[in-house]
Amino acid sequence: IYILGIETSCDETATAIVKNGREIVSNVVSSQIKSHERFGGVVPEIASRHHVEQITIVLEETIQKSGLTWDDIDGIAVTEGPGLVGALLVGVSAAKALAFAKNKPLIGVHHIAGHIYANRLEEEFSFPLLALIVSGGHTELVLMKEHGQYELIGETRDDAAGEAFDKVARMLNLPYPGGPHIDKLAKVGEDTLEFPRAWLEEGSYDFSFSGLKSAVINKIHNAKQRGENLKKEDIAASFQNSVVEVLTEKTYRAALEFEVKQVIVAGGVAANQGLRTALMEKFAPTQIPLSIPPLSLCTDNAAMIAAAGMINYLKGKRSSLDLNANPSLPLS
Ligand code: ATP
Ligand code: FE
Ligand code: MG
Repeated sequence: IYILGIETSCDETATAIVKNGREIVSNVVSSQIKSHERFGGVVPEIASRHHVEQITIVLEETIQKSGLTWDDIDGIAVTEGPGLVGALLVGVSAAKALAFAKNKPLIGVHHIAGHIYANRLEEEFSFPLLALIVSGGHTELVLMKEHGQYELIGETRDDAAGEAFDKVARMLNLPYPGGPHIDKLAKVGEDTLEFPRAWLEEGSYDFSFSGLKSAVINKIHNAKQRGENLKKEDIAASFQNSVVEVLTEKTYRAALEFEVKQVIVAGGVAANQGLRTALMEKFAPTQIPLSIPPLSLCTDNAAMIAAAGMINYLKGKRSSLDLNANPSLPLS
């Protein structure tokens, strides 16, 4: 079974074809990062326009690279939300037009389900499964007891992890998106600044990063007033350690409490070397396998949408041709 995936929820125009939910046949991503860089963030109107310009080109390249024809495609999966409404609409409209013109089933997919299913392109799932989703817009712990079922056990109460990385990077005058730059600096810096860890209430799996962000601002500000200059590397390392420690510890506790058989990490921040290393070290002594997708599958792509769409396809879940983009679509 071949599913075509379409993803346009943010700043990547992406389409892909995945065989049997696990095998990438072709995977094309057109990133707009260059166009948004100078604004220090994604500008929704610019994103929508880029998607409109790119979508047909990306689609054609995907089909061409696959060596398949439209006849071979069994279904069209598209991110229906969450994301930027104008950006989502481009993908949803393209998917609906194709589903109608080529007479294929249309399958709406949740963007985060996609991030989770990116892992299944590498390794089969074992349930119950715990997913840590850490991206520009999300920080969530999701428990899955079977395919396509998502139970939210914790989430951020303010900023997403990626957002915190990007905001701190901005304070350090690093280019957008800042996550990878902080990651690089952190490697050579030292955790000397003693930033707080937001554990929240006993037993809570929720997260909070806005306090940490304020702590970073204050440290920089106070040092400046004293005429001191903090090393960017140390700020990066101290900030990153605080984020990584909380993410790792809460994931670990949840994995034990729910007796999961697998832990997976998803979303752009899963690219973070500090987080990857800390999670690997934490889970190494346990019997619980830990899967982190390769960097190319951590950030937005359409192979993950096709992989998640395959589950809906097999369960007979179809969307109608009046499918609409939903910028705040819930996961469960
Ligand atoms: P969402 O998936 O929630 O809609 P998004 O599409 O913006 O949001 P992704 O594309 O999954 O999120 O990830 C982008 C985020 O990942 C950015 O915030 C970026 O800074 C962060 N990021 C990427 N690489 C790293 C890294 N090595 N370390 C930390 N953060 C990183
Ligand atoms: Fe994403
Ligand atoms: Mg993105």
